[in-house]
Amino acid sequence: MKRSTILVTGGAGFVGSHLCERLLSDGHTVICVDNFFTGTEENIKPLIKNKRFKFIKHDIIEPLFVEKVDQIYNLACPASPIHYQENPIRTVKASTIGMINMLGMAKRTGARILQASTSEVYGDPKEHPQKETYLGNVNSTGIRACYDEGKRVAETLCFDYHREHRVDIRVARIFNTYGPRMHPDDGRVVSNFIIQALHGKPLTIYGKGLQTRSFCYVSDLVEGLIKLMDNKKTIGPVNLGNPSEIIIKKLAQKIIQFSKSNSIIKFLPLPADDPHRRRPDIALAKKTLKWRPKISLDEGLLKTIDYFKSLV
Ligand code: NAD
Ligand code: UDP
Repeated sequence: MKRSTILVTGGAGFVGSHLCERLLSDGHTVICVDNFFTGTEENIKPLIKNKRFKFIKHDIIEPLFVEKVDQIYNLACPASPIHYQENPIRTVKASTIGMINMLGMAKRTGARILQASTSEVYGDPKEHPQKETYLGNVNSTGIRACYDEGKRVAETLCFDYHREHRVDIRVARIFNTYGPRMHPDDGRVVSNFIIQALHGKPLTIYGKGLQTRSFCYVSDLVEGLIKLMDNKKTIGPVNLGNPSEIIIKKLAQKIIQFSKSNSIIKFLPLPADDPHRRRPDIALAKKTLKWRPKISLDEGLLKTIDYFKSLV
């Protein structure tokens, strides 16, 4: 395999740190760029001693000059609703100005760039499961729009740089992903429920808990991202996620059972624009990338519970 120099923005975050780790173990040189908004030094601590790992503390909203790079994974953007809604204008800037900066770098260096897009581009979907051809149902003025519309514009920018400047792009639409190193306070459902269960506190279900999501374990996602980046032909967008769908109430019950907790369930109001159903159609990824997730929800939850136990 060719040894490359690979830049990962958002590399100190949850997915980014797993990606950096995997790329280093594949023999590449990794330049991790992060402003530590939601990512942490702790996430990349084991990587720092590796001579092929370099860290640059930088906000991608500002221009960045790197001389030589073969591939860019652009993951820099807060991903949990609590964090991306904390400073919504900055969230839009990360996906627009930040995206333009990274596409500019790809244009100048000739690097291939992969954008970490999201199932949120489908909004509260009226088509189920979601195929890449579905154009989405996003509320452009709602509280999730800074993230959803930002990611939609980021995709537009990728395709315009591709058409106008022949930038070599890849676009992955990532569905809910979970696993070790999720930020304990970022409010996402898997980490929230596990931490609540381990502390014997009530699990907070928003709404009636009948909404669904489909959860992918982080190592499966990382494998899919690398397969898309290294694929010669497919530029995407390609859905990456685990199609096994579960209602949120059932997820809460599973986590209580797996963590041997006595927690009860507490129902809280459903936030605005919370999608009712979400499940990826991954036929395209299976066919073109020969990729499919391998880790079942039960196996992944047990690994994630073990990780959070080690923190508690
Ligand atoms: P995360 O919040 O753990 O990671 C994001 C990282 O980007 C953090 O380290 C953060 O400090 C950094 N960052 C944020 N803004 C930045 C900026 N302006 N400049 C430099 N660094 C910045 O989230 P994650 O779950 O690891 O998500 C990674 C990427 O994957 C994000 O782009 C997210 O939108 C996308 N994604 C994730 C999921 C998921 O379920 N985890 C689903 C869909 C898409
Ligand atoms: N959710 C919940 N309780 C929580 C956190 C989230 O019931 O403590 C719900 C949330 O309303 C949503 C689903 O779980 O329907 C997934 O939420 P998350 O924030 O993880 O991701 P997203 O909504 O972006 O898919």
